[in-house]
Amino acid sequence: MEVRAITPRGYCYGVVDAMTLAQRVAMDPNVPRPIYILGMIVHNRHVVEWLDKEGIINLDGPDRLSLLDQVERGTVIFTAHGVSPQVKEKAKAKGLTIFDATCPDVTRAHRVIQEKAAQGYEIIYIGKKGHPEPEGAMGHAPGKVHLVETEDDLETLPIQAEKVAVVTQTTLSQWDTEALVQKVVERYPQAEVYNEICLATQLRQKAAVEQGKDCDVVIVVGDTRSNNSNRLVQVVREIAGRPAYLVDNVTEIRPEWLEGARCVGVTAGASTPSQIVKEVLDYLRSYDPANPRPPRSILEEGPLQVIPRPKR
Ligand code: SF4
Repeated sequence: MEVRAITPRGYCYGVVDAMTLAQRVAMDPNVPRPIYILGMIVHNRHVVEWLDKEGIINLDGPDRLSLLDQVERGTVIFTAHGVSPQVKEKAKAKGLTIFDATCPDVTRAHRVIQEKAAQGYEIIYIGKKGHPEPEGAMGHAPGKVHLVETEDDLETLPIQAEKVAVVTQTTLSQWDTEALVQKVVERYPQAEVYNEICLATQLRQKAAVEQGKDCDVVIVVGDTRSNNSNRLVQVVREIAGRPAYLVDNVTEIRPEWLEGARCVGVTAGASTPSQIVKEVLDYLRSYDPANPRPPRSILEEGPLQVIPRPKR
């Protein structure tokens, strides 16, 4: 059985920067304690458990603004998904020390929203309801940003403006987004489109489709809450037309997925620790259908050291 390690896959620059910042903060004795992260720093539970081990308290809940009610002193880290100006102001007003791990690609989308809103545009933001990135983005022009996830949302939009801009979340499926943008432009021909799907997401999706299309099955390693991991599964199924499965780690691979397979593709979400992807590849490379051994994971030994501790 050929095991095809799809490239590029896994960690993106935004996630690596966020994790490095969090580790640096945790190791600095001068940073006021306790240290909190507002939401999952990236959507992967192994990364969250690692930070917990490093002494960082992860706060999770429906929105960043109300999460701050749980913090009275110390330090907050904002996640790679970005936050609204209201969250920054509230943290400052509470006298908290702030570290911002917002990905530069998310910041760029925030700037577009602010600029266009200041120029009198109504903004259609294509994104996923309930995800922290739209929450942060919408706060950059309150009342001016309209969240659209599906064509149905478009039907009920209350926009009558002459100036309309379309901005997208960074981790969407590029094919779905293209189709939805087309619908927006049919309805608002005057719309200016700012496609903010980040390069890391675009390259991983394209690679999964192009390198996965002649595989019998593609395994995506990632967390069920990771939007970009779920989008990888979606594009392999819908665009490449191949079966695809999301697994958190090697132990979730089912033998029936591999039955008769001559080629198995492997890719990973942008927030998936490399060690977890490596053991999936190692397991598949030594897979013997006549004598399949049950997969074992390093996770059974305890939480991962997600990135190495720097030498002091
Ligand atoms: S997926 Fe894209 S936007 Fe999100 S952290 Fe990575 S590079 Fe940044």
